Amino acid sequence: MDPEIRKKSSSGGAAAVLEREFVRTGGYVCSCVFSKGRFEYRIGKTEEDIRLFSGSKYVKSDPTGIYQQVKELLKNGKKVLFVGLPCHVAAMIRVAGEALSERLYTIDLICHGSPSPQILDLFFKQHGRDLAGADHVSFRDKNRFYIDSDGKTFTVRNCQDAYSMGFLYSLFYTENCYACSYASVERISDITLGDAWGSELPDAEQRKGISLILCQTAKGKELLSAGGMHLQPVDIQKAMAANRQLCAPASVSTQRAYFFDQLKNGAQIDRIVKKCYPKSFRKQKLKGVLLTLKLKK
Ligand SMILES: Cc1cc2nc3c(=O)[nH]c(=O)nc-3n(C[C@H](O)[C@H](O)[C@H](O)COP(=O)(O)OP(=O)(O)OC[C@H]3O[C@@H](n4cnc5c(N)ncnc54)[C@H](O)[C@@H]3O)c2cc1C
Repeated sequence: MDPEIRKKSSSGGAAAVLEREFVRTGGYVCSCVFSKGRFEYRIGKTEEDIRLFSGSKYVKSDPTGIYQQVKELLKNGKKVLFVGLPCHVAAMIRVAGEALSERLYTIDLICHGSPSPQILDLFFKQHGRDLAGADHVSFRDKNRFYIDSDGKTFTVRNCQDAYSMGFLYSLFYTENCYACSYASVERISDITLGDAWGSELPDAEQRKGISLILCQTAKGKELLSAGGMHLQPVDIQKAMAANRQLCAPASVSTQRAYFFDQLKNGAQIDRIVKKCYPKSFRKQKLKGVLLTLKLKK
């Protein structure tokens, strides 16, 4: 695995390596970019284009118009690798249909659920910041989940901010996520990528990020045969035990209705999350204080 790619990726960097090998053989890659406040699918053709895809974006991305664009490429005899949320991959496969399926390769992400980008937009606004004006937004640094936008965080670096806590606690996903029919070990794509939580590799490797790769089809094997990664077999039962989204959708948080009620009444996301998860909120604040003290020493 290219150490630079691994470092820049959210998890183990498998997506970026598979995308790079695909464009190197003349294919097109379609995935999600952040641009002008929006998380949207784009098509890339070069290694430079696909660098923009790097990183997990913990929001529901916008697929408007993308399925037809990919379909046109497939009709024109091009190979396309579509990388995205399982629901969007399923839609892409349906739009391409059987006739064009031969040239469509798909990678879906194990998905915990995704919030509407409007919540993120509001979170920025409530902190006096403008998502639309940001050049870059990142949601995690390996196993630390916090938002960093253009080098600025929303709480002490390395500590979970209220948005990240709400995301991890399944507080405010769109309603359909809680009944997701793709949250299963029966995947619809050629390859599924996620985090290798519960991996038995040494801690040093885990800190660098390890991807979990599930390969479902001959096309998936073809993608993996391009190389560029160190692969090691995993026990699927252990992978499922460590990653609930391979078994069932996220459960609706008991606080979800309260969250949206409060939001409607104009409450701050920070305040609502603090009310919903007081212990975890305090823990993150304390972690922040300790980290700040450590930095000052
Ligand atoms: C909303 C969401 C929930 C997730 N939940 C889980 C989980 O519960 N368990 C788990 O193991 N993994 C989960 N993942 C996947 C995980 O965050 C990593 O994306 C995955 O492990 C691949 O990591 P990577 O280092 O190979 O690539 P990354 O650097 O994460 O990039 C992965 C690829 O996915 C694309 N992508 C990122 N975000 C989106 C998006 N919102 N819409 C469409 N495409 C996107 C990127 O453009 C890139 O092509 C989730 C991802 C998302 C976006």
